[in-house]
Amino acid sequence: TKWVYGFGGGSAEGRSDMRELLGGKGANLAEMSNLGLPVPPGFTITTEVCTAFYENDRNYPADLNDDVEAALKAVENLVGRQFGDAANPLLVSVRSGARASMPGMMDTVLNLGLNDDTVEGLAAVSGDRRFAYDSYRRFIQMYGDVVLGVDHYNFEEILEIHKEDKGYVLDTEMSADDWQAIVEGFKAKVAEELGRPFPQDPREQLWGAIGAVFGSWMNARANTYRRLHNIPASWGTAVNVQAMVFGNMGDDCATGVCFSRNPSTGENRFYGEYLINAQGEDVVAGIRTPAPLTKIEREESGSDLLSMEEAMPAVFAELVAVRDKLESHYRDMQDMEFTVEANHLYMLQTRSGKRTAKAALRIAVEMCQDGVINREDALKRVDPAQLDQLLHPTLDPDAEKQVIGMGLPASPGAASGQLVFSAETAEDWAHNKGRKVVLVRIETSPEDIAGMHAAEGILTARGGMTSHAAVVARGMGKPCVCGAGAIKIDYRGGTMNAGGVMLKEGDVITIDGGTGEVMLGEVATLKPDLSGDFSQLMEWADDVRRLKVRTNAETPEDAETARGFGAEGIGLCRTEHMFFDPARIISMREMILAETEAGRRSALAKLLPYQRQDFIDLFRIMNGLPVTIRLLDPPLHEFLPHGDNEIAEVAKAADVSESIVRRRLLDLAEANPMLGHRGCRLGISYPEIYEMQARAIFEAAIEVSKDGGDPVIPEIMIPLVVGKKELEILKAAIIKVAGEVETEQSAKLTYLVGTMIELPRAALRAGDIAEEAEFFSFGTNDLTQTTFGLSRDDASRFLDTYIAKDIFAGDPFVSLDQEGVGELIGLAAERGRATRSDIKLGICGEHGGDPASIAFCEQQGLDYVSCSPYRVPIARLAAAQAAL
Ligand code: ADP
Ligand code: MG
Ligand code: MG
Repeated sequence: TKWVYGFGGGSAEGRSDMRELLGGKGANLAEMSNLGLPVPPGFTITTEVCTAFYENDRNYPADLNDDVEAALKAVENLVGRQFGDAANPLLVSVRSGARASMPGMMDTVLNLGLNDDTVEGLAAVSGDRRFAYDSYRRFIQMYGDVVLGVDHYNFEEILEIHKEDKGYVLDTEMSADDWQAIVEGFKAKVAEELGRPFPQDPREQLWGAIGAVFGSWMNARANTYRRLHNIPASWGTAVNVQAMVFGNMGDDCATGVCFSRNPSTGENRFYGEYLINAQGEDVVAGIRTPAPLTKIEREESGSDLLSMEEAMPAVFAELVAVRDKLESHYRDMQDMEFTVEANHLYMLQTRSGKRTAKAALRIAVEMCQDGVINREDALKRVDPAQLDQLLHPTLDPDAEKQVIGMGLPASPGAASGQLVFSAETAEDWAHNKGRKVVLVRIETSPEDIAGMHAAEGILTARGGMTSHAAVVARGMGKPCVCGAGAIKIDYRGGTMNAGGVMLKEGDVITIDGGTGEVMLGEVATLKPDLSGDFSQLMEWADDVRRLKVRTNAETPEDAETARGFGAEGIGLCRTEHMFFDPARIISMREMILAETEAGRRSALAKLLPYQRQDFIDLFRIMNGLPVTIRLLDPPLHEFLPHGDNEIAEVAKAADVSESIVRRRLLDLAEANPMLGHRGCRLGISYPEIYEMQARAIFEAAIEVSKDGGDPVIPEIMIPLVVGKKELEILKAAIIKVAGEVETEQSAKLTYLVGTMIELPRAALRAGDIAEEAEFFSFGTNDLTQTTFGLSRDDASRFLDTYIAKDIFAGDPFVSLDQEGVGELIGLAAERGRATRSDIKLGICGEHGGDPASIAFCEQQGLDYVSCSPYRVPIARLAAAQAAL
């Protein structure tokens, strides 16, 4: 096996399409070398080594050492320096690189190869002792922290004390001797902490760092990140070892991060940040505030720091050329890292840039319009789940607001919540107490990821647009304001001072990640604007998709929202929600309490006009689009009163004694209502309920048909059937009502009667059920519960463990279990079609809005998916992608 792939000097052994083997970083470093871009030479140890390492009890393959030595030799030859040579040492960086980018998984170690001898060589060759010792202390700190596990504050403390003693404020005041003293202090600290000296042998350093990268693949934060992003542990990470170039050798040196287009807005304009005389991690870690790359950015942001375009125009022009070359090569927006050493540009990384949904849309649409990519590619470029960001509210420009701080607009959207200062509290409050929180940190680090996930939004006091908080928040689609430097956070006191306003944990703030504003209290928000790039891409999606997209809605508001988002009908209207209205619940309860059919009928007669009006409203909004109405589903006791007051109230309304109400409550109680007297079982026991509902539907349909326009074709859906017989009985009753209404109104009705397939038996018996049913709607929430024998409300207790132990690939209530539940769906679809070739098939569980589940529905050839209103655009795009 070839374990190591070299790159540099205008060629490489790898290519960009080898990311599985080389990791994203390694594959793109190889590709950039092949393109002839200035990449410092190096080599990539493959992800297969990582896999072998873990399969073999944390041992490397036997021949790895030889391969690394050979690759190192090649780098030495290209650079003209030897690793470990005291006179003219080659220094390297050791960088992790997984297949999918995992921000901050394992921190990079720079300047590796420095020791007490080589540092003098570096000083001599560069003619700059100060630089050499500065590099050495950075190395000891990074290596100490990342590889040896000596926390960075140990080092920071030593530096702080030294500066204080000398009366310095800035690092720039430190002399060569000062840095040398710091190096001694750092080494002593490491020896004290570890009981052995800081490793001086460059090869020991190298293998230590390589081991740390592979080790970090299984650490807790990497595991968390993988779990949140569904990245399998089996993928492994690669390790990149690369010759160092120095951005910290003087004022003709710099380091920076840039995007070929703006990652926040998508505007086709070069965008980035850089720092003069600095080393890589300084920009990303937000230790110093970086300057804008371009002049126009500097002018617009009002920054008083000189842009790179102005400070180093020649190198900037080279960088612009690289940007153009990489973007047209990859045909996508690139996120690049570079370093300038003595006015020479070096490229250290490129990848497809993370972007907000807004930027993703704009970039896809503009690149397509410019002929760079075709429509299919444009559709594939946008992650459907990301659209969610655009569908959520932004600040109402007319709302009163008190701005108490300002930071960088790092990830758009407005969020309000109680402020918390730690990721743990964010998780605790959000998950255990159901509160909305905004996570406020000086800066974030990978340990905070779970808390960031739990928060509505993120606010940091330090860091730029490419800081950890900004990158991660954009990836998650969370509103984020970062680098709000005027906000003073006191973790210990649990307070924050924003422009003189003192706030404590639990106080409510609002952040606007589109403008960078931080506001006191909760500020009113507005619905999003879905014109422009959004509607363009949706139009393209609608052209290619085959699956129809409907919505789950029972209120006029939801139905209207969904239509605004492009829903093509209602796939699930749950009628029970209509009975909870205070004006109606009394009649509902009266119905349930009635001891006779006549009593029930009289109560139902009171409910009829309400139901009819509900349907009239929905039919009008849907304007001829199909509407699937599910007849009453939940067990009756759900509608019954709770507590003495409600019992008294019902007794009075129904004109019975409280004791009768209580007795009836006991009668109706069930040990396991989910599997009890519900769904069509109610319809079978009390036919008058479904009769009333059917009448309401038919009368509404006729009423709305009088408006003119497209005829209303209701689809009446019977829940929870287990076989044909139930449907036969209930369908006959519905047809009878239809006949009566037609005669009464002398009108003609068109409608369908069908069923939910939500029990395994129904799926198995789909063949005969289809003799009665004109459509099936797969109720995948219940079908998942009943197939797994798992209650959704109780699953959370062990679901995480199941996922962690790889028993379940993910939460089966979020993404359809295609193996099991999916097999039942496939089987039912097949058997249903065998009986009735034109049977309409759809899905109406939560899964109808999940892209992976939608792809499955496409494979099965279903006719439509139905999802909650806010997921309709996601489903439209996912359906298009599934059809490509
Ligand atoms: P991350 O994945 O966290 O971005 P990287 O491996 O890209 O980590 O390293 C972070 C930064 O370290 C880079 O952006 C770059 O500035 C610096 N760096 C890495 N390798 C080198 C190198 N060979 N020479 C100079 N700087 C480097
Ligand atoms: Mg890093
Ligand atoms: Mg990087």
